[in-house]
Amino acid sequence: MNNVMSLAYIGLGSNLEEPVRQVRQALDELGELPLCQRVAHSSLYATPPVGPQDQPDFINAVAAIETKLSPLALLDQLQALEQRHRRRRLRHWGPRTLDLDLLLYAQHTIEHPRLRVPHPYMHERAFVLVPLEEVVSAATHSSIMLHHQPLTSWLTHLDQHQIRRLSDADATTTASV
Ligand code: ATP
Ligand code: CA
Ligand code: CA
Repeated sequence: MNNVMSLAYIGLGSNLEEPVRQVRQALDELGELPLCQRVAHSSLYATPPVGPQDQPDFINAVAAIETKLSPLALLDQLQALEQRHRRRRLRHWGPRTLDLDLLLYAQHTIEHPRLRVPHPYMHERAFVLVPLEEVVSAATHSSIMLHHQPLTSWLTHLDQHQIRRLSDADATTTASV
């Protein structure tokens, strides 16, 4: 545990067992983790899968939390939450009920066997950066730097046309997407 509060960003993804419900529930659960408070979250987005294409589209979102957990303690909590959503690791980048990636932890750079921060692929992924940009504006009213470049400049290099923001009506349905 740290005594200081740190602002962390979490990427959420699901493409199994009613993904909209999985992500909405996980957004609530993130705010209930010990020593964590959720301060903002993005809309939900429907996005095509990375890696194997023979799987359903994903629902993605990003949450901002204030936490006193250390980065590794936060990762432990995220992995426990994935397990509570009955996540099974079947194949690399395969379908899952819930994926929680620690994208950013304050300004920290972490190279640990279990944890790399900033998340190593986030700057290549529109399905991460589009909701992240939405939630950064809401949480801090400013942009953030990623590998010495503003987040918005990474976004200009990425194809965003397949990233579909769900309307509030779609995002509250319990039907699978
Ligand atoms: P990707 O990392 O490309 O998004 P993935 O989310 O499918 O792939 P997982 O199977 O969920 O990968 O995670 C594999 C391992 O990645 C985890 O056991 C965890 O220790 C490690 N890991 C390293 N950095 C991070 C991070 N920033 N957030 C979450 N897990 C991480
Ligand atoms: Ca991931
Ligand atoms: Ca992951």
